[in-house]
Amino acid sequence: MSQKYADIIIDISHYAIDKTFQYIIPTELEEDVTVGMQVAVPFGQGNRSRKGYVIQITEKPEYDIDKMKEITGIVSKSIPIEGKLIKLAAWMKEKYGTTMLNCLLTVMPVKERIRKVEPKLKTEEYVVDTPCITKLSDEQEEMVGDFSADIDEGCANTYLLHGITGSGKTEVYIHCIKKIISLGRQAIVLVPEIALTYQNVARFKQHFKDRVAVINSKQSKGEKYREFERARNGEVDVVIGPRSALFAPCRDLGLIVIDEEHDSAYKSDQSPRYHAREVALERAKLEHSAVILGSATPSLESYQNARLGLYKLWRLDKRPNGRELAEVTVVDMREELRLGNRSIISLELKNAIEDRLNKKEQIMLFLNRRGYNSFISCRQCGEAVKCPKCDVTLSLHNVGKKNGQPGRGNAAGGVMICHYCGYETPQPAVCPSCASKMIGGFGTGTEKVEEEIVRLFPDVKTTRMDRDTTTKKDAYQKILEEFKSGEADILIGTQMIVKGHDFENVTLVGVVAADISLFANDYRAGERTFDLITQAAGRAGRGNVKGQVIIQTYQPEHYAIAAAAKQSYEDFFNMEMAYRRLLSYPPEAVMAVVLFVSSDYEAAKNAADELCRGLKNIAGAFKGIRIIGPGDATIGKINSLYRKVLYIKSKVPEEFTALRTFIEDFEPDNVSVMLDINPVNMY
Ligand code: ADP
Ligand code: ZN
Ligand code: ZN
Repeated sequence: MSQKYADIIIDISHYAIDKTFQYIIPTELEEDVTVGMQVAVPFGQGNRSRKGYVIQITEKPEYDIDKMKEITGIVSKSIPIEGKLIKLAAWMKEKYGTTMLNCLLTVMPVKERIRKVEPKLKTEEYVVDTPCITKLSDEQEEMVGDFSADIDEGCANTYLLHGITGSGKTEVYIHCIKKIISLGRQAIVLVPEIALTYQNVARFKQHFKDRVAVINSKQSKGEKYREFERARNGEVDVVIGPRSALFAPCRDLGLIVIDEEHDSAYKSDQSPRYHAREVALERAKLEHSAVILGSATPSLESYQNARLGLYKLWRLDKRPNGRELAEVTVVDMREELRLGNRSIISLELKNAIEDRLNKKEQIMLFLNRRGYNSFISCRQCGEAVKCPKCDVTLSLHNVGKKNGQPGRGNAAGGVMICHYCGYETPQPAVCPSCASKMIGGFGTGTEKVEEEIVRLFPDVKTTRMDRDTTTKKDAYQKILEEFKSGEADILIGTQMIVKGHDFENVTLVGVVAADISLFANDYRAGERTFDLITQAAGRAGRGNVKGQVIIQTYQPEHYAIAAAAKQSYEDFFNMEMAYRRLLSYPPEAVMAVVLFVSSDYEAAKNAADELCRGLKNIAGAFKGIRIIGPGDATIGKINSLYRKVLYIKSKVPEEFTALRTFIEDFEPDNVSVMLDINPVNMY
């Protein structure tokens, strides 16, 4: 047999080392060293032993054999990465601009063999209160038929299932998965973590029994390892989980389903800042799998692709049980003020709540801001109380709360919290700047809504779900159960409450301040607002009684709010696309953010200026590039680190690639440089 050589990525995260190094595979290891293996190799001066990942094996040496070193051993307990996933990692490196090592580590969420741990909830303990649906509606049937025919013809298409909330999308996924399984292949189902509820998983368990692996971020390493191994060994047909479940080592992947495909949780907030939808489409291409994207409010990217004919568009405009969409009314809060109502609850919403309470029906109130007040400021000197470490105001929480019940009034006793770094300090009784007693809170959060509801309806039983009330384990489940069982009449919460929960007895949903998400300094603000209102509206009237939705806003004429009130995705899409086209935002152009972070303001500023000059030099030759900045980030300081940003927009993707390489090679002292392509959040 001829001598073999291995191309290896060394496990050191540094751009300078981010290339393959070739090593000789000694005869005694020839059988054990395969592609994807973790091996020990001597590296650098002094030949320190380092871990490396074998990404290719070849018989042709690319370097001088006499100078080439040998692999010294296999890393015990290592799990080999699948060849297909190595290819995917290489694609991610090209697309998102980070090191190959980072990408390899991302495609292997489980890295070593450890003791397997059974999940706490066993398959047979999952119960669903509704029977399996075996007769589908005509529309659903047509989609599954279309899918099956494509699969039988050997086509691996992408489908966009645009279906209103509660239209039966999940049933379509399940039946398409059954088709894939009948051919001996596997499916991955991605859901946003927050929608990975017991209810949802139970429906999959109902159909696929114990041949379902469930991944979630709260699992221990052992639990995760067990689920991934079951996928690798072909012991399951379906892997369901959030973003990282995309990298499950399925043997023969036939289908990837992405539910709520527009959700920003699919975008990674760590390097590589990948979007699971984009990576899923690439994995599907590599493995000849089909992809189904589902949403009531598709991302502009996907809807545009469907319109261009790149995806097959499936539509579900009705609910299968004949239940109608809720009736939506918009309340102009400026008018409320003019009428002398200073409460955060409009007269119309108050009356509707009263009516539903009398009928023993339930209510959900949605406000996308936690805490009591979003800031406290002084009427004397005008200063707002700010975080000492960040460039933001502190939010007020836990006001006058006694025995877990919401309190009344604004008496000091609350706690001021920074939503960016977690800094906490007691609520001040006087202004920290001028000692005036004339300080007051502004900006309403969920806590204050709860207090106001208790003030208006003293006998009502409320429960609240936001990040503050769900820190304890199981709290999330407890609140949902408390509401489902009818123990609480009103559920108040942030966006946690709008995703995918199905409460039969909820007939009224109030969107307390639809504008909050519009104020975000971010090109996706309109999209997010439309999505949140649509989802919230989808919670009303899931049972026999028609639902009602009341949207409170200061700008009823804003297109995102107007379209949401009309429940017209098409209206929204057309307006939003026009805006993106006009300002060259995705999907009409590539947009990248370069963020410079440093404890030294001058260093961050100089680095941003220097890179900007370099980029402008290169971009001079290009037609489609615009460089904006550098400037302070929206929040100029977080956790005592200064933040500068530079924006790049490009209508020609290839031109952008040239700039990207230049950014990657830029490594200033004392400043970390981070690149995010098509960001979903502001910086
Ligand atoms: P989505 O995923 O679009 O929000 P679901 O698949 O959860 O919708 O369906 C909403 C409800 O309608 C569920 O309770 C489901 O059991 C029911 N359902 C779905 N398809 C049918 C059908 N063909 N006939 C009767 N009920 C259905
Ligand atoms: Zn003051
Ligand atoms: Zn802070």
